[in-house]
Amino acid sequence: MKIGINGGGIGGMAAAIALRQAGHDVEVYEQATSYGRVGADINLTPNAARALASLGVLDALKETAAQPTHRISRMWDTGEETSRLPMGEEAEKKYGAPQLTIHRADLLNALRMKLPENIVLLGHRIESIDTTGANPVVRFADGTSRGVDALVGADGIHSPTRTALFGPESPQFTGLVSYRSVVDRSKLNIPNLDAFTKWWGPTPDLQIVTFPLNRGREIFVFATTAQDDWRHESWTMPGDVNELRKAYAGFHAEARALLDACETVTKSALYVRDPLPRWSVGRVTLLGDACHPMVPFMAQGACMAIEDAVVLGRALKGVDVAGVASAFLNYENARKDRTARVQIGSRGNEWLKQGGNADWVYGYVASAAALTGPA
Ligand SMILES: Cc1cc2nc3c(=O)[nH]c(=O)nc-3n(C[C@H](O)[C@H](O)[C@H](O)COP(=O)(O)OP(=O)(O)OC[C@H]3O[C@@H](n4cnc5c(N)ncnc54)[C@H](O)[C@@H]3O)c2cc1C
Repeated sequence: MKIGINGGGIGGMAAAIALRQAGHDVEVYEQATSYGRVGADINLTPNAARALASLGVLDALKETAAQPTHRISRMWDTGEETSRLPMGEEAEKKYGAPQLTIHRADLLNALRMKLPENIVLLGHRIESIDTTGANPVVRFADGTSRGVDALVGADGIHSPTRTALFGPESPQFTGLVSYRSVVDRSKLNIPNLDAFTKWWGPTPDLQIVTFPLNRGREIFVFATTAQDDWRHESWTMPGDVNELRKAYAGFHAEARALLDACETVTKSALYVRDPLPRWSVGRVTLLGDACHPMVPFMAQGACMAIEDAVVLGRALKGVDVAGVASAFLNYENARKDRTARVQIGSRGNEWLKQGGNADWVYGYVASAAALTGPA
């Protein structure tokens, strides 16, 4: 089949590899005119690293990724550790793949290297999707259009494909904003920089997450604050680092040192959405943030998109135009319960606060999960 993928982000590129491995012709439509170094962190827990291994990109990722040694929870004032989960080699032994933390641009680059250049059409901003004829048709802002046998909407939180299938959504603002920064490691002189550490605040709106990037040469810093008057859900808007530091003035000195080291921050409002009851209509389906956008408190947004891609590729193996609608339903049935559980769990923001068993998330094997019914 000729399969179109709306969106050349992490989920779209992973799906392009998986669908080509399944024997299909693939074309990716991406609004950006080039791939710059946009964004910051991506956390790839063993479930995602294992899925990426099945796509053949794990070795390339290891060239730039860091491998956190532990996943630690600490109290905001005393610094006391309330949980410490070994990651590193122990996670690799247990789950068959390591945890990797990587700059988003490096992950995208590793995925792109697995694809022929001419299948990603940059500068193609999707304006609408027409599902009224036999084949889905994608219409672009420049007036051109493409008809395909099947279409995958991997076009992110504000997905035009989702809107075409199910109408406009109404996300709820959480009252929280997130700040992100990448800091040169040499600016920090505190312990545990090679671990994934979460500082739990006195109230759920205050938390800092930090982990290594770029083989440990850089440290990623994420923090949230309550704020009612900021509603921009964007990955690239700048924020005020002093405003952030002020909110954390009472925190442990090691937590404050992290924020002191941030030179610039991006700021994004956090919204929650309920799980979608359906992802597919006929020969069009959704993938990644387009169908299960989540707040980042379990760090699973990219991981779920990558798992989706691998399961989608398996569901479409050997399938032709006559079978694609039911193959999309098999894919959606295999994925919906899991992604809804992670979406809702992320909203609860209690993940591994006091330890606990991470196996149901980290131990999932996308390349072997059941293809019909709940995975
Ligand atoms: C610019 C950017 C920076 C990000 N930075 C981070 C980060 O620092 N940390 C983090 O954890 N997550 C970040 N994310 C989000 C993270 O990559 C996703 O949550 C996750 O990987 C899910 O992937 P996805 O492919 O479903 O969505 P995304 O990665 O968001 O990909 C969606 C793609 O669709 C494209 N698209 C959207 N609308 C259209 C349209 N109308 N026409 C054509 N193309 C369209 C977008 O340009 C994008 O490339 C970022 C996303 C983006 C787009």
